[in-house]
Amino acid sequence: MNNIKLGLTAIIVLFLGLQYSFIAQAQNISRNQTNNDTKKLNNMNSTNKFEFQALPYANDALEPFIDKLTLEIHYGKHHKAYYDNFIAAIKGTEMESMDMMHIFKNMSKFPMAVRNNGGGYFNHTFYWEGMKAQGGGSPTGKLSDAIAQSFTSFDEFKKQFSDAGKTRFGSGWAWLSIDDKGKLFISSTPNQDNPLMDLAEKKGTPLLVMDVWEHAYYLKYQNKRPDYIDAFWNVVNWAEVAKRYEKALN
Ligand code: MN
Repeated sequence: MNNIKLGLTAIIVLFLGLQYSFIAQAQNISRNQTNNDTKKLNNMNSTNKFEFQALPYANDALEPFIDKLTLEIHYGKHHKAYYDNFIAAIKGTEMESMDMMHIFKNMSKFPMAVRNNGGGYFNHTFYWEGMKAQGGGSPTGKLSDAIAQSFTSFDEFKKQFSDAGKTRFGSGWAWLSIDDKGKLFISSTPNQDNPLMDLAEKKGTPLLVMDVWEHAYYLKYQNKRPDYIDAFWNVVNWAEVAKRYEKALN
């Protein structure tokens, strides 16, 4: 009798054990499937994340300060070429799966083609989004206070930012950025460098940028870079700059 009980118990234990292992195996398979699906999704995102975005306004939206033909060529030819060359430069490399911020943070380790074209791709998108039709005026709220505190006044800020653009020898950019201590600063970078790159002289999170390459103004202003810089203040999208500032603070 005891032997029969023992036998039955053994069969039940064996049965439950087999069932448990079957369920565990099934769960594993389903978990692996989920992991694979997540990987697939991530890979899709990584190839889609470097997009050539549409201009946020029409080619003639910034007239008369930035003319239609300049904007057409600047966006459609110059910016597009940086984008295409960036995609070609990262193709088949580890950079393809990195996000832009990670690439910039490690820029000193990567080829010059990635530095020039990755910078050119990002900086231009940032420049377009920082402008709008009927822009200009002055910032409000927290950003206005921070600018007044950092540069004594908004006019003094404009002067220093304009000077950064005027005195950049050759081609480059003028930036307003925030450093890792929350302090605003103005800088200028050569070529297609930006303050996010590990090799930038002054590093920080950019808030506003002005392109001072000749291709940004030559058709309308020829050699008169200061006239283009004066005009730039009429198209600044301060709401966007304030949004970037709030984001950088959080
Ligand atoms: Mn440009």
